Amino acid sequence: MSQKLAIGIDLGGTQLRVALVDGGAVVRRAAARTDVEGGPGGVLHQVEKLITEICAEEERKTLLGVGISCPGPLDTETGTVLHIPTLPRWEGFPLRQTLADKLRLPVLLENDGIAAAFGEWRFGAGRGLQHLVYVTVSTGIGGGVIVDGRLLHGRRGMAAHVGHFRMAQDGPTCTCGATACFEAFASGTALGRRAREAAERSPSEFLGRLAAETPIEARHVEEGARTGDAACLALLHEEGVFLGQGFTGLIHLYSPERLIMGGGVSQAFDLLEPEIHSVIQRDAIHPFKDVRVVRAALGDNSGLIGAAALAMEHAGRTS
Ligand SMILES: [Zn+2]
Repeated sequence: MSQKLAIGIDLGGTQLRVALVDGGAVVRRAAARTDVEGGPGGVLHQVEKLITEICAEEERKTLLGVGISCPGPLDTETGTVLHIPTLPRWEGFPLRQTLADKLRLPVLLENDGIAAAFGEWRFGAGRGLQHLVYVTVSTGIGGGVIVDGRLLHGRRGMAAHVGHFRMAQDGPTCTCGATACFEAFASGTALGRRAREAAERSPSEFLGRLAAETPIEARHVEEGARTGDAACLALLHEEGVFLGQGFTGLIHLYSPERLIMGGGVSQAFDLLEPEIHSVIQRDAIHPFKDVRVVRAALGDNSGLIGAAALAMEHAGRTS
């Protein structure tokens, strides 16, 4: 049996996922709908139950630790949840310590974007690099940054909130309350909203016809684009421009060797990629123009593997 087993937990507002991870590979995983109503107590009970499902008693004895990734803001220095918009009643909850006491294992708490960045760096599309930016584009936009061969954490571990810099004077309201953030323009939620507007404008075309059967979301734009629908292709073109603009700013800020895109919207990466690169070619300062954007290699396991890998490294440093 490997001596590098750890548990990775991905706590989200809709799904709670737990995996037994061996180095960079998921051995087993289990998931449940997050018990939002149950608050921290209910969710921690779910965590224990899921760990029992995926981890035999023998394996449990060899666990190096547990890494938990969740959306923030979190104070990862103290292991405390500050505010999770999709999880009410978690404000100020000492997640790391409570879970460590319950499981009797070392626990590490990390922002979900940073955990996924770490997973991609160690085992995915960023292997061997010294400088990279990871951006997840799904319901919102988050990420993590590695510079000079180490994870960037910042004050209270809150660095790399890459979705929340302002892209324009006017624009959509962001989930953070501000106006015209990168996330407000380029998230899957924003793409879905533009798709619904397109469906209303043209009821007889692909999205319009689909809207009669199901609520339109970002993934339907990819579906339509793959059949060659002009409106969907135009929406993805526009999405690629927004992503290219945001990525250009991040490339200027952090000077990565590569920018890695993950999250649900990256399913359409092959369709978005030409526009992303043409915006970077056009807008980036000359020496930054050759930075490539690639798709995440670990898919929706980036965060689980990253959280577990962080727990393993942490255990290695403290043992
Ligand atoms: Zn924002």
